[in-house]
Amino acid sequence: MRFNKPSELRRLRIALIIGAVLVLVFMAADLLLLPSSMYQLYIFDRLLIQFPIILTVIAISYWRKFIQYRAIVFATLLVALSYSNYWLIWVCWTEHDFIFPYEGTILYAFFCVFALGIPFKLAITVNLVNILGFLGLMWVAPVYGDRVPISAAFVSGSLFISVYARYRLDRSVQMLKQTNDRLLKLSKYDPLSDLLNRRALREQSEKLLALSKRHKVSMAVLMLDLDDFKKYNDAFGHQQGDEAIKIQARIMKQVFKRDTDILGRYGGEEFIIVLSDIKKDQVAKHCQALLNEWEEAALQHAQDAKHPFVSCSIGVVFAKSVNNCSIDWLIDKADKALYDAKERGKAQFVLTEA
Ligand code: GH3
Ligand code: MG
Ligand code: MG
Repeated sequence: MRFNKPSELRRLRIALIIGAVLVLVFMAADLLLLPSSMYQLYIFDRLLIQFPIILTVIAISYWRKFIQYRAIVFATLLVALSYSNYWLIWVCWTEHDFIFPYEGTILYAFFCVFALGIPFKLAITVNLVNILGFLGLMWVAPVYGDRVPISAAFVSGSLFISVYARYRLDRSVQMLKQTNDRLLKLSKYDPLSDLLNRRALREQSEKLLALSKRHKVSMAVLMLDLDDFKKYNDAFGHQQGDEAIKIQARIMKQVFKRDTDILGRYGGEEFIIVLSDIKKDQVAKHCQALLNEWEEAALQHAQDAKHPFVSCSIGVVFAKSVNNCSIDWLIDKADKALYDAKERGKAQFVLTEA
């Protein structure tokens, strides 16, 4: 699945807005709980520290490189929100003798780790910093009295759970991605030759044809077929035949190395190569290189085969302009040229011009 930047950005901004609204909602609820003498302090912490911090992150989300740095921004946000909470708990206790609850700390961690998606490695670091901060706070200001140990355990445990759950989530996503990549490869590539399968070959060829039309560049389609392959199979067995198919694929990859070259297995022992923006004499050179490679491989053929070593025949169509061409038409032309190459004695290429 491809990462969709605009929708991911939108999702994150919505999560941040929900976070900002929640801060306001909790503010209303907290004000019912607090003595009025503490309103000023509380409103200062929420409205002038936490709320603006979230708004700042929303503003940062419009930065061009935000997606790239979002994890570190959200990690900083989590630390800032948590420590401003610790500060509030501390001031409430030292200046007003008021026991401010710690639950907000847990909510912030779950919000940043899950809703904003801080990844595992960063989540573990940040939550460790927050756990240490809370333990430090309990050390200098044992706000909850007898309940300090259970409160510290509860905060530490909850933050640990958020980190562990993040780890499980990241692992599942990673495994899903690996499976998806494997399935994608299976759906595109032929397992024996590791070349594109017929369907992917067609899809990519259509795309290359459209591009070649737009950029007004040449194209060449090559059709390759192993010579007397039935005899080879009969003489050495199908497994050995499969090895020859692998050698053909390796040779094709050796000769055609450009990123835009499309190499595929069309059928049993038939292969197609589609090239774009190439000169006719270059195509001829590459065909000759393919034949030379087979000669060098010197793979013993069946005794009743036309040639002593395994070879292939190649039919090529070269089109200087592809404006009026379709892939089917080009393949058909290459197929006819291949037929000619077979007729003329195999182990050679025939190049026709469209
Ligand atoms: P020609 O020189 O005229 O091409 O003769 P040929 O015997 O090669 O004839 P053709 O191209 O029709 O041969 C097809 C043979 O290819 C038949 C089949 O035994 C073999 N074949 C097709 N797919 C596979 C495969 O996946 N593995 C193996 N080992 N053989 C295959
Ligand atoms: Mg064939
Ligand atoms: Mg053949």
